Amino acid sequence: MSDLASSPESSTTLHGTPVVPGVAYGPAVVVRGEVSPQAIARFDSSGLDAESGLAVYDQAAAAVSEGFVRRAEKASDAAAEVLTASAGLARDKGLRSAVRKHLASGDDLLASVHAAVEQFAQVFDSMGGLMAERVTDLRDIERRVVAHLVGEPEPGVQLPDTPVVLVAEDLAPSDTATLDPRVVVALVTERGGPTSHTAIIARQLGIPCVVGTAGALGLTPGTPLLVDGVAGTVATSPDAAEARRLVEADRADRAALASWSGPGETADGTKVKILANVADGESARAAATGPVEGVGLFRTELCFLNRTEEPSVEEQGAIYAEVLAPFAGRYVVVRTLDAGSDKPVAFATHEGEENPALGVRGLRLSFDNPDLLERQLDGIAAAARETGTETWVMAPMVATVAEAAEFAEKVRTRKLRPGVMVEVPSAALLAHRMLEVVDFLSIGTNDLTQYAMAADRMATDLAHLTDPWQPAVLQLVAITAEAGKQAGKPVGVCGEAAADPLLACVLVGMGITSLSMASAAVRPVGARLCAATMDVLEDAAEAALAASDPKAARAAVRQVLDPR
Ligand code: PEP
Ligand code: MG
Repeated sequence: MSDLASSPESSTTLHGTPVVPGVAYGPAVVVRGEVSPQAIARFDSSGLDAESGLAVYDQAAAAVSEGFVRRAEKASDAAAEVLTASAGLARDKGLRSAVRKHLASGDDLLASVHAAVEQFAQVFDSMGGLMAERVTDLRDIERRVVAHLVGEPEPGVQLPDTPVVLVAEDLAPSDTATLDPRVVVALVTERGGPTSHTAIIARQLGIPCVVGTAGALGLTPGTPLLVDGVAGTVATSPDAAEARRLVEADRADRAALASWSGPGETADGTKVKILANVADGESARAAATGPVEGVGLFRTELCFLNRTEEPSVEEQGAIYAEVLAPFAGRYVVVRTLDAGSDKPVAFATHEGEENPALGVRGLRLSFDNPDLLERQLDGIAAAARETGTETWVMAPMVATVAEAAEFAEKVRTRKLRPGVMVEVPSAALLAHRMLEVVDFLSIGTNDLTQYAMAADRMATDLAHLTDPWQPAVLQLVAITAEAGKQAGKPVGVCGEAAADPLLACVLVGMGITSLSMASAAVRPVGARLCAATMDVLEDAAEAALAASDPKAARAAVRQVLDPR
């Protein structure tokens, strides 16, 4: 980074939502998301008839598809899957015939490509959930095809070999799939929130990341940037020596975090269970090697996203046993199917709902299909018997005490420990009554935030609302934690909030007894907690609750935890 110029006089600071902690310094690479309007205006396809227009489209689509294949060959497993899917979509026959239809009706080539993509995007959107997320891929493909047609390089991330800060409006899945943390030292996006695709990938890769940063796209490429993924700030042209000192200090802090080996407790010895979120046997085996006391959230629906038929009880038992087995001697909280809305499962989800996030999802699927839940509970009980692992079972999307009581009864009959998730504000407000009928609560802050703020967790434009630091969300968490303290029963957090080291301190200060998170967050969270006494964490919780907005809450908590 020795080529970075220092010009502190002209330094300005942009503010966004911090999502991955860490401090990084490097020159900005601003991702061009669009093909230049001038090139589009210059493009003239009037000399092409429908047949030759389609041939030109075929060439462009093939080039885009081959580009994805080449990048897939160099990518890791998960990234290669994303890129291979995009390669297939670029060559999709249905998309091609939609282009042909529009060309035949007299539309010019660019208009035909756009109309075909729009047509597909609408279909994907109406299917909802994961299919709707593929709309981003479709639009990414459209931009790349158009670039080929008008003779420009494909838009997207073009990285040098030296470390840079990547600045973008938001990143397409195909861009994030191949990010190399040795080259991209930080990510800054203008749009997006804590649950956006960019944030999730940055968290997995451990790249400091600030999203929803107003003004980021106006940054001049090459400008030296100091990114603080804890404060959510992006300083332009900072004092170079000071910036390097801060990066070094952060590196030393991170090295200290890496050596944290559990178990979770505060500096004065209050125990806090640090748990892992897992999706299947593979992720469970990986998580079991870390310093966690168990699994706080096994998202069972993720095992069935590609299944059209419901697996038999025996097959379900075998799938669940793969997750339970690595945790023998520890414990696993299994969540029953949270199918619907953003996680469609073909054999369970209701089709054609007007508003799936508020529809028949999670536990509600059992209202008109109780046997689906009974069979899943039988599968979980079989896995618990086979592995001998202590197994707790919780239901998602519980709204009433009666639902909780009925679910608990079914779980207890199978000699398992029942709990419910607190994702609907009604469940938080009635947490004390919920705890009269179940053994534990687990707060899903992703959905609790979505429902408390009436803001779609997938909507990048609403990132300032879908922030678990919102005072209303913190109040609901505090009410739930207090109910747990009164009842003497465990209340955990398993949403993304638990993975934020600063917010984790607030949660424990409120009385939360366990935190469940992606494996990458375990050490940063564990190390942060053991640096503060319970008194200080309680002060941090009080400061967060008293703040007027998320930014003020973060600043107030930092001040309490690290008054320097
Ligand atoms: C949550 O809503 O916070 C949660 C943990 O569940 P999911 O993210 O799977 O909806
Ligand atoms: Mg949820």
